[in-house]
Formats: sequence, C-alpha cells, structure tokens
Amino acid sequence: MTKTSQRAVGVDLGTTFSVIAYLDDLGRPQTLANAEGDKLTPSVLLFEDTSVVVGKEAVKAMATEMVHVAECAKRELGLRVYHKVLGGHQYPPEALQAWVLNKLRRDAQQQIGPFEKVVITVPAYFDEVRRKATQDAGYIAGFDVMDIINEPTAAAVAFGFQQGFLSPDSDGGERRRILVYDLGGGTFDVTVMEVGGHEFRALATDGDVQLGGRDWDQRLVDYVCEEFIRQFGLDPREDPNTQGRLWRECEDAKRTLSARQRASIACDYQGHAVRVEVTRELFLDITRDLLDRTAFTTRQTLQAAGLEWKDIDRVLLVGGSTRMPAVSDMLQEMSGMVPDRSISPDEAVASGAALHAGLLLSRFAGQSPAFNIRNVNSHSLGVVATDAKTRRPRNAILIPRNTPLPVTAKRVFKTQKHGQKSILVQIVEGESASPDDCSQLGKCTVRDLPPDLPAQTPIEVRFHYKENGRLTVMVNVQGTDKELRHEITRENSLSQDQLDTWRHYISGLPPAASAP
Ligand code: AMP
Repeated sequence: MTKTSQRAVGVDLGTTFSVIAYLDDLGRPQTLANAEGDKLTPSVLLFEDTSVVVGKEAVKAMATEMVHVAECAKRELGLRVYHKVLGGHQYPPEALQAWVLNKLRRDAQQQIGPFEKVVITVPAYFDEVRRKATQDAGYIAGFDVMDIINEPTAAAVAFGFQQGFLSPDSDGGERRRILVYDLGGGTFDVTVMEVGGHEFRALATDGDVQLGGRDWDQRLVDYVCEEFIRQFGLDPREDPNTQGRLWRECEDAKRTLSARQRASIACDYQGHAVRVEVTRELFLDITRDLLDRTAFTTRQTLQAAGLEWKDIDRVLLVGGSTRMPAVSDMLQEMSGMVPDRSISPDEAVASGAALHAGLLLSRFAGQSPAFNIRNVNSHSLGVVATDAKTRRPRNAILIPRNTPLPVTAKRVFKTQKHGQKSILVQIVEGESASPDDCSQLGKCTVRDLPPDLPAQTPIEVRFHYKENGRLTVMVNVQGTDKELRHEITRENSLSQDQLDTWRHYISGLPPAASAP
C-alpha cells in the first residue's frame, strides 16, 4: 500500500455544511479546503440537466432554481426517498449525502492524493437506521468507511488533542468531565464525557435530530412572512424561489445578530417589498422555545449521567449555531461556568474524526493506540414481544439507553411448533413500551433451524451492539454451538446491488470488497 492510501481522513457530514480533515505528516489534524477554496462545503445539491453541483453554487441557485435544489438530506436519512422530486427522480437520502461526500473526496484527493479510508461522524443521537444509511452514503461515494463516530465524541477528541492529552509523553492528564453541547445546522446533541488517561468515555447522551440552526432561520422567515401578509395579504412562502432567497437573507441576518444588536431583512414578492428590522431581543423572543428545548435536554443528560453541574469541569461548545450569544448566555446561567470556545466549532468534529482515523490506521498496523473511545448507546434496543397478560405487542428492551458499548444482550425465543424451519425476530429502537412508537430497525429471520426440532426448543438470539452504534445479531440453538444463518432486513435500506449501482453512478467506482 502506498503512503497516500494510508492517509487518515475524517469527515463531518453536516446537515447544512460538511468538512473534511486529514492528519498531516506530524499527526496534526488539518482542514482541507474544497475546490472553491472554502473549508466549509454547504451540503446543498443542484440538479442541473445531467450533472449535480454540490456546495456554494447550489446555495446560490436556491434563489432562482429552488425546484432543482436539495438540502438538509441528513434530516431524512432513514426514509426511503428524499421528499422532493429532482429532475423527474426521487432519490434515496443516502445517495444525496453521497454526492456531498463524493465532492469532498474528489476535492481532497486533488490536494493529498488518493485515499479511500475514512471516518465519518454522526450525531450521537442518530439511531441505528440513520447510522447504517450514513455508512452506505460513504460507500456510494467511493470511500472505505472504517468507522462512524459520534460528533460530540469527535469534538472531545479534538479538544483533547489541542490540550495535549494525546501526546505520547503525556500521562493523558487528570480525569475531567466535559459537557459537549453541539448545536449544528440541523441537529442538536448533548453528551457528557469523561476525558483523561488517554480515554474518552461517554457517560450519557441525548439530543434531537430535528433541531438546529435551520429552525432558527425558519423563525425569521416566518416572522418576515407574517409581516408581509399583514401589509399585502400575500405569503412569500408560496413561491419556492422567493422562499429560498428569503431563507438566505434570514440566515445572513441571524449571523449578523450574533455580532450586532440589530439586523434588517429585505423581502420582495409580486411587486411588493418590505424591510423588516429585527433586534437581538426580538430574535431571542421568537426562538426562545427552541433554546429552552436544548436547555431541557442538557439538564436531562446531566441527570442521566448521575451528575450535577458542580461535577462538570468544562462546557464545550461545538457546531456553528453555538455562535449565537443566547446559547452561551443560557449555558453560563445554567452551569455557572463560562463555556469553552477554544476549539473551532466548525472544524473540531472533522479534526476529531481524522484523529480517530489515524488511531484506527495505527491499530491496523499493529501499533498500540494513542487513546481509547468508550461510547454509550443513545436509544434503547429491544424486540417485539407479546405481553403475557394483555396479549398485545410490546417493546421488550434488551439494551437500555446509555449502556456502555460494546455490549451483548441475549434473549431466548422458543419454537412454536414441531419441525419449525425459521423464526422471525422484530427489532425496535426507542423508549416507548409500544412498538408502534419506536423506530423499526428491521426484521431478523433465523433460518436453517435443525430438522425435526421439537416445539418449545429454546433459540438464543444475541444482539451485539458495537462501539459505533451498529448492530449485529448472532443466533444459536441453545445447548449447541451451531451458529444459525440469519439476515436483518431493513425496510428503507438499500440492497447491496442498489448500493453498487449508486456507487457506480455517483462516484464512477466499481463495487468494493469492503462493502458496508
Ligand atoms: P454546522 O453544522 O456546525 O456547520 O453549523 C451550521 C449552522 O451554524 C448553520 O445553521 C449556520 O447558520 C449556523 N451559524 C454559523 N455561523 C453562525 C453565526 N455567526 N451565528 C449564528 N449561527 C451561525
């Protein structure tokens, strides 16, 4: 293998922006600029005739060709198709994410030469379905995805590197507890971590995959539109291009409000125009409930870790939206600490991913790792069982949330009838007792049961939940050491053939040996 193919590369695949970083020859993470010269690539796609343009130009097109633009596909991972028809087609969200990754890969390769191996980050609160979809997006984009890691964990690793905890001659520093508050463009995560002694250990994690900077933007869009309706009886949101243009204005005004006390937003539609003045105070007023949701989740996570604010040494801010002054004010009030802004909120996650990639590469090469990561699961994992009393289906939890990973849990199923050939296990993720309110992970069919098996034979099903939050299932007939064949079928997941077709279509590469 050449030196360049061993590059340690990490990608922060964000809802609104994505970032790619690699480790330089001294092992330091460096963010790579894209072909346009920017470190942040908007995760926005423009479908133009036969080509797909990703990034800044696609954002510009939101003002004029909104019908051809796809954005925020990360929020739809896990669904079968992205909600919008683009150029006559509906694409799976992982294919849209793959286009973004493919751009990052190609632009990076221009600078550091060929590489395939990568670590991609995901919100800690992503469920298994979304994690699998992210890995699939990486495969489609022509990567060999070594691992996926949680964004707050990656940020904490970058922080540890910056503080010198990871250097071989350091003892890893004393143990300290860090609360990572990560508010990006589309998702919110909060994770309590213990860092020290070359170990990064998550204690508890929680979040919201439908809450991020985009929601703050939308409040401004709605505010301006309401003013427009009041004055002219017309709603600019009815026209996609006007809405796209207005969103850009509002996002810009939001950034202005992080630096100044007031901003003005212009909107014109059907020959009418308004200019709306927004003060920081008013912005806070119309978005307070969003901020409160993050505060609530933060308190809950601290509680889930069994800690109080006095046990926390640092509050680490990650994600572009933490630049809003209201975020640090709220956290300072809650915690009594000035939040730490010492790492770049945009680059920290990709840097941490690159450091993790470097760790995996050295582990593959037989070297002992510079640090270890211990994770917890963000959602409980269970199977659908029948309640003995009510005979109604219920979620029988096998692995409760916030369990340290990796973990193996088992459950014994019994065959119903003599000579049964297979058993169907339905796997769900979520906290509710009702399977309908949980996310359906998939079905695991256990095949090839030995012939003539008597009814009520115990079949042991073991769930192995890996550090990266991905699930594998093992099955055997109790009392034997025979591993049975099984397959997890996932409702909205792409088959290997489909993945290979998309891979060829988007990245031009043939199927790889290391398929996800
Ligand atoms: P990330 O996904 O971490 O790159 O975060 C992107 C989000 O951060 C987007 O919603 C941006 O609008 C938001 N953002 C970036 N800079 C600022 C700023 N100065 N003030 C408020 N929000 C910002």
